[in-house]
Amino acid sequence: MKYCSTCGDHVEQRIPQGDNRYRYVCVNCETIHYQNPRIVAGTVPVMDDQVLLCRRAIEPRYGFWTLPAGFMENSETTLEAAARETLEEALATVTMGDLYTVIHVPHIDQVHMFYRATLTSEDFGAGEESLETRLFALSDIPWDELSFPTVRRTLELFLEDHSKGRYTVHVEDIRYQMRK
Ligand code: ZN
Repeated sequence: MKYCSTCGDHVEQRIPQGDNRYRYVCVNCETIHYQNPRIVAGTVPVMDDQVLLCRRAIEPRYGFWTLPAGFMENSETTLEAAARETLEEALATVTMGDLYTVIHVPHIDQVHMFYRATLTSEDFGAGEESLETRLFALSDIPWDELSFPTVRRTLELFLEDHSKGRYTVHVEDIRYQMRK
């Protein structure tokens, strides 16, 4: 950050009084510009033991498969964000289920949250940010072509839980890039 979004003057990094971290502070209007982690919300959309994946039409990880997910917007809940991303990326309408994974990714200041979801029909397709969308049997997931560590981890857990016949919420951390 270089400029204040309130008055347009320069910002500098300093520890405000009563704080213990460096913050961007405007040299003119003294506004403190806090920066906090961003939430990525998505779904594990299933139909008859198959999971719907999207092949990314955007960088990063162009051409790799992902669960539908994206940055939460202001004025929405994580559940709404997950459903919206599923509609935007996979043109899919889902019945939202329980929260499934919460994965902290501290080195990129993100928290990824995936909900279980059931496709309401086979009426889905490739949204603006996808090259194609496809249902994969759980034995057929393209492990070598997955986009992000949080997607991989969520699918690994999903397979484990599926084989046990019982799904629980998983809260985990990924502290470095686990690229294959
Ligand atoms: Zn300012």
